[in-house]
This record gives sequence, C-alpha cells and structure tokens, in this order.
Amino acid sequence: MKKTSIIPIFIPHIGCPHRCVFCNQWQITGHRGVPSPDDIRHAVDTYTASSREPRHWELAFYGGSFTAIPVDMQERLLQPAYEALQAGKIQSLRCSTRPDCIDGPVMARLHHYGMTIVELGVQSMDDSVLEKAQRGHTAAQVETATRLLRQDGFTVGHQLMPGLPGEDWDSLVRTTAAVCRLHPDIARIYPVAVLENTELAEQYRTGRYEPLTIPEGVRRAAYMKQQFIDHGIHVIRTGLQATADLDDTTQVLAGAYTPAMGEMVDSLRYRVKLFAVLDTLHQADIIISYNRRDTSRVRGYKNQTMHEADKRYSFCLHWQEDNTVAPGSIRAGDVELVIGK
Ligand code: SF4
Repeated sequence: MKKTSIIPIFIPHIGCPHRCVFCNQWQITGHRGVPSPDDIRHAVDTYTASSREPRHWELAFYGGSFTAIPVDMQERLLQPAYEALQAGKIQSLRCSTRPDCIDGPVMARLHHYGMTIVELGVQSMDDSVLEKAQRGHTAAQVETATRLLRQDGFTVGHQLMPGLPGEDWDSLVRTTAAVCRLHPDIARIYPVAVLENTELAEQYRTGRYEPLTIPEGVRRAAYMKQQFIDHGIHVIRTGLQATADLDDTTQVLAGAYTPAMGEMVDSLRYRVKLFAVLDTLHQADIIISYNRRDTSRVRGYKNQTMHEADKRYSFCLHWQEDNTVAPGSIRAGDVELVIGK
C-alpha cells in the first residue's frame, strides 16, 4: 500500500463568520492570507516532485471554514486541486469546516470537485461549552452534518478540543460518548492551549479561565482517544503540530501544549491498561513483552511507566521487545492485552 502524504493548503480564518474564543489560525498554521490558484498548483508540483517513491498524495485545505467561503472563492481554490486530481498528480482531496455549513448544495459542490473527506470542527458535544467557546453552532448541528455527510458518501472527521471553558470531566465523558455514537471515520484531539491574541488569552489574564495543565490535558485526551479506538474510530492526531510560533513561549501563554502530547497520551493509555492487569497478578516475576514498534508507548514517555511500575509493584518486571506480539498489544505474563494505536 502506498504511503499517504498530505499537501497542506492553509486558508487561515477564511470563511469563519467570527473568531472562536480559543482560535488563532495564523499562529497555529504559521500562514496568513489566501492562496492563489497558482500557489496551489505550485504546492502540488513541489510536493509531488519531492518524493522518488510513489505515494498517495492528498491535498488538504486546513485552518479555516472551507464550505463557508464565498462560492466563487471556493471554486477558485477547488479548480486547481481538481485539475491535479484529474491529471493523476494527487489522489484525494480533504477540507475542514464548521458543522453549521453543510447542506445539499455544499456537498454537491464538494463532490463535483472530487472532495471525499470532510473534517468537522466539533470541539465539544456540550451546548453550554460550545456557547462559552462562541462557536455559534450546537451539538444537534454536529449530528445533522455528520449524518448528511455520511449519507452522501463522504469520509467524516471530527476535531475535538478537551479543556474548553466550562468543560469538566462529566462534560468530557458525555462529549466522548456522543462522538462514539455518531461514529466519525476519523478524529483529531487537540487539548486546549491558550494562544496570544485570542479571547481565551484575555479570559486567562483576568482569571476567568483556568487553563489545563499538561498532565490534565494528557489525561483528558488519553481518555477520549482510548474510547474512540475502542469504538473503532481512527484517531489521526493528538495535540497541535509543533510550529515555530507555537514553540514561542510568548505566543502560547498556558494550557496543554507540548510537542510531545501524542507520545504522552499513548504512554498513559498503555500504562492505565497495563497496570489494571498487573494489579490483579500475584507472581514472583512477570515478563512484559511488546512489539518493537510499541517500545516507547509501553515503557512510557521518558520511561515513566517503568519507573512508576518499579515503585508500585513488589514483584520483578522484565521488559522485552518481542515481535511475535501484535503492534498495539502487550503481553503481561500469560495475559494478552489489546490496546490499539
Ligand atoms: S475554530 Fe474554526 S470556525 Fe472558529 S475561528 Fe478557528 S477556524 Fe474559524
């Protein structure tokens, strides 16, 4: 199978009816302005020329509300992408947009230009959290958009943001359950970070918003991710992609941003499942085996799981790579644990 590689086309805040409290796409994407059709053609040619081996190239419009962009501008952006698709330079197209900007004519346009994947900015399924985030849509609109896209044959993605104002664990659990019921094909989880030049930054400075700590962001994202995996939803990203702007401490004021978020979340997921089994075992020695691909997930971020296990258990643990163990699983003594990637 060919490896999928993304050609990102950033459209920061284009189409957004207003700014949501947490959002600063100029900072998240590191881009400003609207790309021209020639910029898109150039990006396709540059990316596809950069690899010698054949790949599945996917062009993705990120960072704005694609289907809320004025139709003539949407078509100007879609036309060069469609041409690249027709010419066989790229193999698929995706965009991200708001749940309240999906209807029949919108989906017909996307189909016409060959778009097959639509990611919805869901953020939460709790209406009071959505209101505080000034999203301007409801959880019911997420349900409708997901159903319409699915009926029309699109691959559907949900983007979630644990840690928004007003969210507690109860709200997070309800959001997670609601997303599992809707069952998008893919999900991204972005624990909230407080970015400069946002309404959330003002709320934080004036004490009206208490940001997530990194460990709490990891806990919430790990819970969500494990639930999604257990329900067959493919999680394709956890935590914001590092950019020069995000690594600038004057730009990220607080909250759960770390370039290691994905690794820390997976470490915690594996640790929770592993310790749940080890707590029930009473042997002198236990061998913990795992596929080489899972070594850092099993041993933990900076070997944290090994260190915690040493303190927690009086018996001896032996940690070993064993490629007869399926990726995404752990063997603890005789017990086979399926955790999922
Ligand atoms: S979260 Fe989405 S809709 Fe809200 S301002 Fe950012 S890009 Fe626009």
